[in-house]
Amino acid sequence: MKTIRLREGKEKSLLRRHPWVFDGAVARGGADAGETVRVESHDGRFLAWAAFSPQSRIRARVWSFEEGQRIDATFFDERIASAIAARRLWDLQSDGLRLVHGESDGLPGLVVDRYGNTLVAQFGSCGAERWKKTIVQSLLAHSGCQRLYERSDASVRQLEGLPEATGWLAGAPAAGEDPGLALVIREHGWKLALDIAEGHKTGFYLDQRENRLRFHAWTQQRRFSQVLNCFCYTGGFTVAALAGGAGHVTSIDSSGPALEKARANLRLNGLDEVRATMLDADVNASLRQFQKEGRRFDAIILDPPKFAPTAAHAERAARAYKDINRLALGLLEPGGVLFTFSCSGGISGDLFHKIVASAGIDAGVDAFISERLGGAPDHPLTVNFPEGEYLKGLVLVRKP
Ligand code: SAH
Repeated sequence: MKTIRLREGKEKSLLRRHPWVFDGAVARGGADAGETVRVESHDGRFLAWAAFSPQSRIRARVWSFEEGQRIDATFFDERIASAIAARRLWDLQSDGLRLVHGESDGLPGLVVDRYGNTLVAQFGSCGAERWKKTIVQSLLAHSGCQRLYERSDASVRQLEGLPEATGWLAGAPAAGEDPGLALVIREHGWKLALDIAEGHKTGFYLDQRENRLRFHAWTQQRRFSQVLNCFCYTGGFTVAALAGGAGHVTSIDSSGPALEKARANLRLNGLDEVRATMLDADVNASLRQFQKEGRRFDAIILDPPKFAPTAAHAERAARAYKDINRLALGLLEPGGVLFTFSCSGGISGDLFHKIVASAGIDAGVDAFISERLGGAPDHPLTVNFPEGEYLKGLVLVRKP
């Protein structure tokens, strides 16, 4: 068994059960990509079993803090069984579920989503990559699904020195059969179409599921007549708004194919396309245009892409978040509602709150902070791994 020894004082985060070892913490030792290593303190005390990543700044990711634990097929089978069992703790009202959420489920680098009877997996670390076959067997056995598609094309693969990999790992449709990539899930009362090969992440933003329901509830209560959905992607919030009785929804995205899917999602739910406008445009430019035209909305959703993947991008990202929030607040009717989000790991909840507050001051708009939102419960946060908190949202109500 290979060992890595840490520098003096670098054992602290592991003793608090944080699962990452950074390159600068390692005094000596190494292993092949994904190989299990024993991590020791500077004086030789056992700290953890971890998967080694020779190229990544996160040099090792912990599988277990128990010295007696063997990292073998049984270990992965148990972890996967318990991650899947944990999803029964929440009433998620959907057959689109995240079954494994990396570090939060004790499986660093592994993300697995279930869309109906199809699984989509991302192997984002050398450790997860090395155990891929074992992991796939356990996922199929415990989920009862027969099909598993790999979407290992996220940028983290590069940091780990791993090439992109996509395609069926189990249950590949035969030639001439439906390719099985275009799927429809049931979320709350709605049907939502997605494509597991082409879609963002593993195909869909499951992490916004409960926030779409929250927006639906606000719409039902307030009967919004004009809704603006910025960065709408395939129109999840648009469906939530129209199904909740919104008078009209304007949806903006700079991706033509995403807007096509959004239109298809309206048809799939029998929603009247006359109540929807889809704009293939830049959100920032559109908000400025609406401002010039004196347009007003009763409710606005701002769900931009990740402006700050890490804290190093925080400053520029903060300006971008502030800009769109300032513009959106200025377009709200008195009493109007803003659902505003950041999915940037590099922007903390506190910082996001400050950015939105300062956007309000610049817009000359005072607002109640009515709710704080986060990611869906099947993307769990754990006390040992605060980095897991990437998605945060605020519901602001402009003072009447
Ligand atoms: N709210 C969506 C997810 C949004 S993802 C949901 O619930 O499913 C972010 C989206 O922003 C992507 O679809 C991307 O195409 C779009 N986007 C990125 N930059 C943009 C810009 N400058 N203007 C308009 N859309 C943009």
